[in-house]
Amino acid sequence: MHYEGNIIRPPSEANSILLQVTVGCSRNKCTFCGTYKGERFRIKRDSVIMEDIAFAARHCQRQRRVFLCDGDALIIPQKRLLKILKEIEKQLPWVTRVGLYANAKALNMKTVDELEELKAHGVGIAYMGLETGDDVTLKKINKGASAAYMIEMGRKAKQAGFKLSITVLLGIAGPERSQIHAQETGRVLTAIDPNYVGALSLMLIPETPLFDEYESGAFQLIEPREMLSELRTMIAGTNLTGGLFHANHASNYLPIRARFPKEKEATLQLIDDALEGKVPLKPEYLRAL
Ligand code: SF4
Repeated sequence: MHYEGNIIRPPSEANSILLQVTVGCSRNKCTFCGTYKGERFRIKRDSVIMEDIAFAARHCQRQRRVFLCDGDALIIPQKRLLKILKEIEKQLPWVTRVGLYANAKALNMKTVDELEELKAHGVGIAYMGLETGDDVTLKKINKGASAAYMIEMGRKAKQAGFKLSITVLLGIAGPERSQIHAQETGRVLTAIDPNYVGALSLMLIPETPLFDEYESGAFQLIEPREMLSELRTMIAGTNLTGGLFHANHASNYLPIRARFPKEKEATLQLIDDALEGKVPLKPEYLRAL
């Protein structure tokens, strides 16, 4: 495989064939994100992608899923993306699902019909970074999208038939807006009604603008208890018709995995117990990105 730079994928795609179709992220401006720093976004050459699919056809016959890396593969023009998907269908007929990261801009650039066409050719899940539903914080972190726009684009992905997985970031609003961030994020998640929500705890990455803000004192990290309290407010304010809310990433202090709506109340109780000290939190040295 012709991998270049940092290859990241959602935890749930750990066993997928990682097919890198773009290098970097077309936005690359979010203040907390260091994943593709210094990387100029580009779509990889078709010939290289086709070689990698042929490689996967020979060596990855036991993997049932493909994940299209990097940042937002959905931004690839429709014709080119379809060509890639059709080649996957032809060469890897055992693959049951293709996944990709999809930011709001990329979703906006495709019509619902186009997204449905991608769905018909294998795209089964889109991963979208919401981070927060709080407009003030979205602006501060330079996400390039308002909460209303995120709602519209998230719904569009669902309308096209994709499963939708949304990532939110605990701690991203700092101490002052922590609870507003939690409430607004719950509101936006409810409005989108995704299939999966993953809540990660913010960890600062050196050489990012947010890290610099932290060093200068302009941004403060919240304490583990405040993160949990944020998570509690977020879960309390989120109503999903049937999604899975998890906060079990390695960077989280208390692993949570709640099937909504059934396990929502029990999860709130677990968090309350942790806040009261009845359940131990993960020590700092065990946290990882
Ligand atoms: S958070 Fe996502 S959209 Fe923002 S720069 Fe990083 S990869 Fe790109």
